[in-house]
Amino acid sequence: MNDGAQFGTEVEATAPRAARAPPTRAVLVAGGAGFLGARLCARLRAAGADVVCVDNLQTGRLSNIAAMTGQPGFRFIRHDITTPLMLVEPIDEIYNLACPASPPKYQIDPVHTFKTSVLGALNLLDLARAKGARILQASTSEVYGDPESSPQSESYHGNVNPVGPRSCYDEGKRAAETLFHDYGLQHGVTTKIARIFNTYGPGMAPDDGRVVSNFIIQALRGEPITIYGKGAQTRAFCYVDDLVDGLMLLMATPHAVRYPVNIGNEGEFTIAELANRVLAKTGSSSAMIHSALPVDDPRQRRPDISLARRVLRWEPTVSLDAGLDRTIPYFRAQFEAGLAPLEAGA
Ligand code: NAD
Ligand code: UDP
Repeated sequence: MNDGAQFGTEVEATAPRAARAPPTRAVLVAGGAGFLGARLCARLRAAGADVVCVDNLQTGRLSNIAAMTGQPGFRFIRHDITTPLMLVEPIDEIYNLACPASPPKYQIDPVHTFKTSVLGALNLLDLARAKGARILQASTSEVYGDPESSPQSESYHGNVNPVGPRSCYDEGKRAAETLFHDYGLQHGVTTKIARIFNTYGPGMAPDDGRVVSNFIIQALRGEPITIYGKGAQTRAFCYVDDLVDGLMLLMATPHAVRYPVNIGNEGEFTIAELANRVLAKTGSSSAMIHSALPVDDPRQRRPDISLARRVLRWEPTVSLDAGLDRTIPYFRAQFEAGLAPLEAGA
């Protein structure tokens, strides 16, 4: 896996030894068949890494990784990270993205969500230690809960309900951050923590249930746009490719960068504004309907990304308008190709 044997036999036959590429990196992506994970796998493959994609397919889809499946240098393992993972091959880096991220999905089996967040993180940390790999945790802006101040910087400790419908995810991710921090210190493993803010883009499952995919699908179907509450709550939406850039840069930082880093887009929009933009861009005449705001739904969210700017030299490049312009055709094409029947919508 790590010796580059599957790659470039032609190059090996002709290139002098000194001109050979450096050894191929072996990267494990847990949750690699999900929305973000699949995009990350593709980027890592394009960068020349061998990729082991580990996923239990709870919310992930084989179609997300179909273009890589069967390629030398890409391996899919169906596995639930709540049980330990044994691998014979060397692994240099581990990205832990395994966990359902959409509220309706992670609330279906909250105990399993918590186990995934905490036991899963521990199992992957043990694997990183055994392999001498560095490891990155996909944490979340949900660690800030329903924030009392905005924007949220990494020094804010959050306002999280430990016993609400979102707690399995929020507290699970908080506990995982603690584990990453302590495990790294205690065992000398290089750990990274990315606090990801709402990210969207092509590759999202049509039945994901999060706001961007819901609104686009509803608009394309001509069905009412479902706004929870008055739509005055805010989110800051990051385009998937910007996010993946940020994750890869964080993974490459020196050992000392062990503290959490916010990765997100600073553009803050109300949910009503998002609905209006989706309607305008799809040309849909869908009505807007309001239903109750879910319990503990954060009222405002916006990242302070000064740390990412300083440490990663990263900032997002895709505005919400530009990102929607790339995302809407993806959902339209899925429908047209019959890959995502309208009944599979939100
Ligand atoms: P997703 O639901 O599309 O992907 C999650 C993937 O993890 C799926 O492929 C799923 O099958 C897999 N998975 C879940 N539980 C597992 C388990 N126990 N064992 C193995 N695989 C498992 O979600 P996403 O948006 O791609 O999110 C990826 C990661 O990023 C998650 O950890 C999420 O918490 C984090 N994150 C995402 C966002 C966002 O806006 N997309 C925001 C904050 C954090
Ligand atoms: N939301 C909405 N309609 C939907 C789905 C979500 O109004 O069909 C709202 C939801 O209540 C929240 C915001 O949109 O205030 C973002 O929700 P999402 O599930 O995408 O992410 P999260 O709540 O985890 O930030």
